[in-house]
Amino acid sequence: MQIVCLDLEGVLVPEIWIEFSKRTGIPELSRTTRDEPDYDKLMRFRLDLLAKRKLGLPDIQAVIGGMGPMPGAREFLDDLRLRFQVVILSDTFYEFARPLMQQLGMPTLFCHRLEVDEAGFVRDYHLRMPDQKRAAVNAFRALNFRVIAAGDSYNDTAMLGAAHAGILFRPPANVIAEFPQFPVTRDYAELMGAIGRASAAI
Ligand SMILES: [Mg+2]
Repeated sequence: MQIVCLDLEGVLVPEIWIEFSKRTGIPELSRTTRDEPDYDKLMRFRLDLLAKRKLGLPDIQAVIGGMGPMPGAREFLDDLRLRFQVVILSDTFYEFARPLMQQLGMPTLFCHRLEVDEAGFVRDYHLRMPDQKRAAVNAFRALNFRVIAAGDSYNDTAMLGAAHAGILFRPPANVIAEFPQFPVTRDYAELMGAIGRASAAI
């Protein structure tokens, strides 16, 4: 039995914070862990900024819903789900991802959650567990699945390494250089081809 684990942002949907920052015209929200390596500090900064700008969850969801998945993502995912069990492993939050997941046909998603008050403002965030992408792949292995994993960035390399086969999708140059063991794909046809080859090999 085989299972495919996919990253979400940069593979099926845009980078949510970066796109959100563009659409709301709040450039500070495009800060990432590259600018602020302390994730907790970064999240507190983001949540404070949302509250200051009076952006509640419904406003945030409306903006995120307008982004839509990447062109061709829905068709790719529908096709993949006809051939494999698919689980999306992401470090986003259910509340942010929901409008995009609806446009993707509500595939299974393992991520984190937000705490929202009665007025609709995001008050806190809860990571389900640290390093959850790798932990999920290892758990699937323990359930006797053969795992194929695909992702686009540095935070996916642990799950790619834990899987029986790992594939990069539109990765930045530094990730390609540092992880030459993973095949690189640039579009959904290439990714589907690489998943098919991995499936035959593992
Ligand atoms: Mg990603």
